[in-house]
This record gives sequence, structure tokens and C-alpha cells, in this order.
Amino acid sequence: MTQTPAKTSISKGKATNIAVKFAVSYVRVSTLKQTKEDKTGIRRQEKDYQRWLKVHPEYKNLEGLEIRDLGVSGRKNVKEGALGRFLKKAEKGEIPANTCLVVESMSRLTRDEPYVGIGLIRRLWDLNHTIAFTQGSWRGEILTGREQGIFARIESSLEAASFEWEDKRARVVEYYSERAEAIEEGDKSFNRSRKDTKARMYPFWLDFDEKIGDFVEIPEKVKIVQRIFNMSETMGAKKIAYILQKEGLKNPTNGTSKFLAAATIRECILKSRAVLGEKVTRGVVKHDYFPPIITPEQFNFVHSAKDKRSTSENLVSKNKMVNLFQGVVHCAECGGRIDVVNKNRFVCINRREKGGVKELRRMEQMYCHHGRAKTNDCSVGNPIPYIYKHSGIDNELTILRQIQIFRWAEFFTDEKHEEALKIEIEKRNNFLKERNTVKDQIEKFNRAELKLFEEGEILPKHLRQKREEQQVKYDELDEKYNRAVLDIQNLKRKKTGEQAEKDIQLRVKEFMNKGRFDLDARSEFNMWLKEMGISVEVTIGKNLRKYPNNYGFEIGKGMFDPNTKKYIGLDQRLEDSHALGLDIKQVMKL
Ligand SMILES: [Zn+2]
Repeated sequence: MTQTPAKTSISKGKATNIAVKFAVSYVRVSTLKQTKEDKTGIRRQEKDYQRWLKVHPEYKNLEGLEIRDLGVSGRKNVKEGALGRFLKKAEKGEIPANTCLVVESMSRLTRDEPYVGIGLIRRLWDLNHTIAFTQGSWRGEILTGREQGIFARIESSLEAASFEWEDKRARVVEYYSERAEAIEEGDKSFNRSRKDTKARMYPFWLDFDEKIGDFVEIPEKVKIVQRIFNMSETMGAKKIAYILQKEGLKNPTNGTSKFLAAATIRECILKSRAVLGEKVTRGVVKHDYFPPIITPEQFNFVHSAKDKRSTSENLVSKNKMVNLFQGVVHCAECGGRIDVVNKNRFVCINRREKGGVKELRRMEQMYCHHGRAKTNDCSVGNPIPYIYKHSGIDNELTILRQIQIFRWAEFFTDEKHEEALKIEIEKRNNFLKERNTVKDQIEKFNRAELKLFEEGEILPKHLRQKREEQQVKYDELDEKYNRAVLDIQNLKRKKTGEQAEKDIQLRVKEFMNKGRFDLDARSEFNMWLKEMGISVEVTIGKNLRKYPNNYGFEIGKGMFDPNTKKYIGLDQRLEDSHALGLDIKQVMKL
């Protein structure tokens, strides 16, 4: 067998007695992630091969044949990879005899245990080929299987390669199950601070304080997240991204892009349940793992608002001109949202003249959302004018003026307000944390019960009792939490007195003079109204012909249900209701 002429079908050469031998390189990396490590791994294996060719000038690279297993494990490359296909070719005689397979190391060739690995190498030798390893003590030596002690050397090398693999896999599995258990137990000690590297396995608005062994908020980043949630009550992620970029806000997520992308806002912030304090590991939710920075109420509201935006329900968001009072104006009868609807109509210039000259009139009208949809919630289905340019009606301006002259000072009392609010917020957060801890314990019992159930058993009585105790505790804490939410709501309604009134007047005046016809200024003004808690209530009379006296606007601080965030009503029915200069009750009697 040894002196058979090579059939060089691949290199097109004629069959000659061997003057030149061929070599082929085998490259393998186990993941396809295109990480730096992988790329340098591939490059190093290629370089090693080139160097090997230089040291062995009697060998030429076998052109047209590449054996590469990228993303194939060293236990599958014979069965499923390029290495296996190469062996098959060799068995069919399609590879010139005495071809040397050049591999960086034993672990690149195979991670199989010695018995299987030796079989693989022997297959090559039996086909009259050779093998060389470029690294380690092998030093590129061309192995034919006849070297002294070769089997022992290969065996120990295979042992090391396969052990390394088993060990690595075991370590990875162990690492993850240990970590999952730790998280479930509330053990956070394996977390590290951000100081040496920015990438961490926890949200970007948090850091880990290794001294106290717990997460701490990064205030400026928490503020950004909270602001984004506030914004998303009325606008989509795209718009938020646009506004933040315009403000020059740098991407706070340690990501690669300079500004926050809409997708990041959507996926990494708005959808992240970590804002509620939750951490999910292997399908198990730990509720009090992180400090919560968004209330569950707001989180749910934002998600329902997002769903609404994605259906075509929302008329106003399709308008190019932002509805200035989106989410601020409510129907006095049902508390529902007021929509602004555009209508274009050709109308006779002279009303009495039949078939006379017509002109296009653009009318912006306000409707009660429920009333217009003729649901049972509200009986007012007719519109009132919002802006009629042709007849000089501009109720946007009317409302703005009312906000401007409103006696806000009565709604804002300063003393110690900030301090009280801080205490209440801390109280609320503590209740929430405690409640979540208890919830985790209850769920632990539930999981244990499920597991036992699958095994045909039931949860022992003492554990069931414990669970009941926890449930009682949970209900108590839940009530305390809800009460704290209400207290905060009430406190927030009273803010800072005279100064607040002046600030509001100034802000409205500035907007009326400069920003009213600028899209972004309108968006910002809308957000400001909501942050201030300013609400407008519209009373829509039923008689259309009584324009403009059958409708009116009332201004005040809006009250919202803390759980559903639904509008309840104005904080106080105001003594001076500005029904275009008339008393609202008088108007309704007309
Ligand atoms: Zn209504």
C-alpha cells in the first residue's frame, strides 16, 4: 500500500510517484456567535497552518478542499460536520494518498473519549493518510501511527481533551443552577458593582453595592426611566425617542448607539418587568429582587395605552397636529376621554342663497369618546366646536386662558409638603417590597405543591397552614400598600402655593405666545399639563343651535383612581366655573 501513486483528481495533476505531498487544514470552533474569541480562534488556526506549511516544504496545500466546522461541537463533527464528510471522501479514494490532516490541537479534532478518538485517528492512518497537531508538545510532527509510544501519547491527549469538555460543561450547568437557586432564595451576593465594567446582568438604572450586598438606584437613570413611562402614557416609543434625542439625552443603557432608539425604549424599558422589581430566572419570577421604580398601576396603564395606540381606536394620534389636551380633557357627564375630530365640509357662503357659491370649511370638533360611539356610558353624542376658523371660534385658546387665570395657589400648599411626600413614598415602597416578599413565599409553596401533585402527593398540612398565614399577611400588606398609594395621590394634589400659580401662568403665557403651532412644543406642553395634574372638564349641552352657550369648560386638579388611573373628577367643583363667562348651571338650564 505504501508506494501507491496518488490519484490527484482534485489537484488536476497526473498520477506520478510522490514528489509533492498534500496537506489539508482542519479548523473548528464550537460556537457560531462571531465573538471576538471565535474570530481570533479561527485566525490563529489558519496562521498555524500556514506556518506549518512553511516548515514542511515537501507539502502543498490541497487546493479546493476546506474542512471547517464553525459552530460544531467536538463531539458531533464526525457525525454531522465537515470532518465526517472529509473522512467519507477519503474512504472513497477521493483524497490523494499520504495527505496530512493538519489540526491545531487534539481538542480541535475531537472531544470524544479516548476509545472513540483513537478510532477516528486510526481511520485516517488505515487510509494511508497522516495527521499533525501544530500546538503543544506535538510541534507539528507528522504522525503515521508507527511512532514509538504513539498510542499512549494520543490516549492521554484525548483524555485531557474529553475531560476538559466534560468538566467545562458540568461547570457551566452547575454555575447556572446555582445562580438560579440563589436568585430564588433572594441571595444577591454574586452580583458585582459596575465600577470595573459597564455591562452587567442587571438593569442599567441600577448598580450593585457590594458593601451592603444589595442593588441601589442610579438616580439620574431612574428618573429617565420614570419620565419615559410618563411620556408613554400618551405617545409611542418612536415619538419618545425623537423628543429625547432632540433634548440631547445620551443613551443611558450603556448600549452602542449614541441616543436611545425606539426599539430600546420599547423592549428594554417599557416591557421590562424589572421596573417593578421582578427578576425571571428559568421561568421562576422573583418579585422583590430589584428595587421597584414604577408602580404596577402605571406599568399596566402604559401597556393598555400602547395596545390602544396600536389599534385604530385613537383618532387624535393620527392627526398631524397633536391634540394639545390629549388625556387632559374629560367629559363632564361620563368622565371619558374627549376626542378632537377634523371635518371638512363645503358650505354656502351665504346661508339663505340656494345653490350659491360654496367654500371649504375646516372644522375641528370635540366629541365625548363614549357618547360618539353611542355606548351606554354617555348620552352626549353631539360635538362642540374646538376650532372653527371661519367663525373665529378657538376654544383651544379659551381653555388655555382659563388655565392661565385659574387660582392655582389654592391647590398647592407648601409647608413640609416635600418631606411628607417623601415619607409617604418610602412607606409605599416598603409595603410593596414586603408584599412582594410574601408573594414569593406563597408562590414557593404553590410550586412545591405542584411538584408534589405531579408525584401523586399533597402538600403537608403544616405547610398548607403556613401558606394560609402568608396569604393573610399578603392581604394585609396589599391593603396597606393601596392606602399608601391613595395618600400619595392626595399629597401630590397639594403642591407649592403662590409660586406654583405664578409658574403655571408663565408657562401657559409662553406657550400661547411662542409654541402653540409647533408640534414638539405641543407635545411637551401636553406632558407638562399631565405632570402638573391639570385637568379640563367639558360640559356638552345637547342643543347644537345654542352655540356657543351650551357648553363650558371647567379647570382644576384631576382626580384619578390610583389603581385604574381612570379619571374620577375634578378635585373641587370650582366656584368660578368659566363657562365662557356664564355660570355652568345656568347654561345647562338654557
Ligand atoms: Zn361622555
